[in-house]
Amino acid sequence: MKDSITSAPSCADPSDPESISVADALAQMSQQIQKITDSETLAIRDCLGRINAEEIQSPINVPGHANSAMDGFAIAFSSLDNSGISELTEIGIAYAGVAFDGVCGDGECVRIMTGAVMPEGTDTIIMQEQAEADGQGRVRIDANHQNGENVRYAGEDIAEGQTVLEVGASINPANLGVLASLGIAELKVTRKPVVAFFSTGDELVSLGQPLEKGKIYDSNRYTLFGLLSRLPVDILDLGVIKDEPESIKSTLLHAAEKADLVITTGGVSVGDADYIKSVLAEIGNMAFWKIAIKPGRPLTFGKINNSLFMGLPGNPVAVMVTFSQFVIPALQQLCASTAHTPIKLRAIANDSLRKRPGRLEIQRGIATRDDDNQWRVGKTGKQGSGILTSMSKANCFILLDEDNAGVEPGDSVDIQLFDWQ
Ligand code: AMP
Ligand code: MG
Repeated sequence: MKDSITSAPSCADPSDPESISVADALAQMSQQIQKITDSETLAIRDCLGRINAEEIQSPINVPGHANSAMDGFAIAFSSLDNSGISELTEIGIAYAGVAFDGVCGDGECVRIMTGAVMPEGTDTIIMQEQAEADGQGRVRIDANHQNGENVRYAGEDIAEGQTVLEVGASINPANLGVLASLGIAELKVTRKPVVAFFSTGDELVSLGQPLEKGKIYDSNRYTLFGLLSRLPVDILDLGVIKDEPESIKSTLLHAAEKADLVITTGGVSVGDADYIKSVLAEIGNMAFWKIAIKPGRPLTFGKINNSLFMGLPGNPVAVMVTFSQFVIPALQQLCASTAHTPIKLRAIANDSLRKRPGRLEIQRGIATRDDDNQWRVGKTGKQGSGILTSMSKANCFILLDEDNAGVEPGDSVDIQLFDWQ
């Protein structure tokens, strides 16, 4: 008998020659994703979080007219005596929304409120705190002023014809305000992709049912629901499917008919009950199924008819990690979103982090800023891919690249802030 066994590369190995790099996986995915070209026109409030489908140019100047930035007095700067005190005659009043319709001449001033249109003949606003009004129509102003001070000019914020929203922009609260300030009531946005998902596993029990020995509650559908609900997608939750090739096949075909992207969790590894890859090979095509990442190595990507397919691993932390690294970019490309990628920062590690070279490792951290405004990061405790509390306690991922061979306290590391805090 041989005194050793023949072993195959596994999740326990730091590197696996069959795994492709994260960059390679992203590039292969990108080649297969075609952006959604359908769009719909909606009232702007319904566009929050959606992806803009048509460049918007401003139909007007904002502000539309030169106006006062302060409560005070509108004057012609040339009325001031530049060596001493000038005494001007107040000839009227201008409110925001109710213009003074006379002309302000030399030696005169108009009482003016913030936002009121600059009266004809004026070019400068003296703040009321810097003027002395006697209540009888005489206003004294000293020489400490600049020509044009406290005036907001027409088109200063947005000029007519200026592009205010690019195609691919994600509509945020400020965008809603900008659109409203231009009088734009409706916007064309990209159709929401439909994302269908289901969990696979004979051990999984849905909420509300008793837990028999060896069974666990299905948590992945809840994290996926949470992650997807924040995105501009329509969600189709197809429940829990047993580890049976026929059930997996029919559910995948149904999902692919309905959805732009189908996500499953579990069943992508090399166990005897892992059927996702063989079913995918039968009804679609598989681009890859092993990535040099921890957790998340067996992530499987392919297509079923016109739908994209992503088979995420079953371990709950691997689901969240692979979602952040692969599902988000895929959805951004589907919607042609130009959203900024998640914020990455450099931080000093508070703890030592075990890591062997060979693959990108994504640990869970708690980032804080210290008294010197330096970002610091500590780990959330045990980092096993089944330990979901390592995610729920964390506010960031710690990204340790392929070559990294471990971290000591004081070393600098990259962190990626969660965008759902
Ligand atoms: P698998 O990838 O199917 O081998 O699953 C890997 C590990 O993740 C196993 O311990 C599963 O029990 C667990 N797991 C799989 N699916 C889920 C799920 N939906 N919710 C919670 N744990 C899961
Ligand atoms: Mg399983």
